[in-house]
Amino acid sequence: MSSPTPRIVVVGAGIVGASVAYHLARRGAAVTLVDKGQPAMGVTGQGFAWINVAHSEPGPISGLRRMAVQEYRRLEGELGAAFPINWCGALSWSRDPAKTERFVREHEAHGYDVRLVAREQIALLEPNLLDVPDCAAHAGGEGAIDPVAATEALVRAARKAGAEIRTGTEVTALAMTGGRVAGVATPHGAIDADVVVLAAGTGVRVLGETIGVTLPVDPSPAILLRVATDGRLTNGIIASPDIEIRQVTDHVLLAAEDYIDDTPEDGPAAVAGRAVEAIRQRLRGASGVTLESVGVGWRPMPTDGLPIIGFVDGIGGLYTTVMHAGVTMAAAVGRLSASEILDGTDAAEFASCRLRRFADRPSRP
Ligand SMILES: Cc1cc2nc3c(=O)[nH]c(=O)nc-3n(C[C@H](O)[C@H](O)[C@H](O)COP(=O)(O)OP(=O)(O)OC[C@H]3O[C@@H](n4cnc5c(N)ncnc54)[C@H](O)[C@@H]3O)c2cc1C
Repeated sequence: MSSPTPRIVVVGAGIVGASVAYHLARRGAAVTLVDKGQPAMGVTGQGFAWINVAHSEPGPISGLRRMAVQEYRRLEGELGAAFPINWCGALSWSRDPAKTERFVREHEAHGYDVRLVAREQIALLEPNLLDVPDCAAHAGGEGAIDPVAATEALVRAARKAGAEIRTGTEVTALAMTGGRVAGVATPHGAIDADVVVLAAGTGVRVLGETIGVTLPVDPSPAILLRVATDGRLTNGIIASPDIEIRQVTDHVLLAAEDYIDDTPEDGPAAVAGRAVEAIRQRLRGASGVTLESVGVGWRPMPTDGLPIIGFVDGIGGLYTTVMHAGVTMAAAVGRLSASEILDGTDAAEFASCRLRRFADRPSRP
């Protein structure tokens, strides 16, 4: 940036926007963080919040994903006890043991901290697990955060570093002058800026449209269940073929389910019923667990699944940070984005995340 103290508006105080605002403010930028509601009231507050490094196949953003643990450890050091992370480790497996073995081999080859564990070790790690699989992937360094408390801690730290926080303020449009963003419009008046960061989750598409920029991001539903338990049933995160769970207090277990449908047979209540039944069957001591609540969160999902991060070509000062899985990547993305915006660097970790990758593709019907 040419100006010594650039004025930056960050739109969206979910975990991603809060992290970007914090990292910018601590570097001395004049930051205004704007949200139409309160921090973490978007999908962040409805997430399972697993810092999930080893996931799917190591792909174009594996470098970014691999930084997650180290970046969250750094944030813990900077923000202290107010930034709650449970480094409980994660066990995951597929129905087919060969697939689990391949998953571990591939991730090990890419430098991930994951190892193959056999039945005996799995039983030691999770003594309440019934039907212990032959093998599992154990990511002992992974963990999970309290996404609301973590976002609030980032917002507080951003404010302490000088950021202005405007909650209850909807951005209705982006403002442009001479091919550059000039700020944002809100019902309470305009906010001028040299840079606008779009971290508005599923809201980014509509905001882009106000200046003719297409951001190919769809809302993707996922279900979060709170299950009441009589005592602690699990030690770490468990992602089996039919349940994804973690214990958050002695009496509450969270479960995440990926897909829902509009039909009653596959709606949230039905999915929740099946998930609770699976928990009862898969864990010793779980026969009496009950469903406390079920909610649907709308994840901002770029249409090709990869994050959209960086300055937008042709629109000076417009920067986007929209992605899945945002909790996992927020710590790293906050620091690297602040550096791109303030130092004019190009983070190698974002190489496959630029919006321009969509330019040559045919638009979807
Ligand atoms: C059930 C479930 C399980 C999940 N599990 C995981 C997991 O284990 N690990 C993981 O990494 N991710 C997980 N996710 C995804 C993760 O929660 C999201 O990727 C992440 O929270 C996205 O954060 P965000 O800050 O980009 O979006 P949001 O949290 O949605 O924040 C966007 C903010 O922008 C604000 N906003 C929108 N439009 C405007 C506007 N016009 N003006 C002002 N403000 C605006 C909203 O109010 C909101 O606060 C899960 C999601 C769900 C639903």
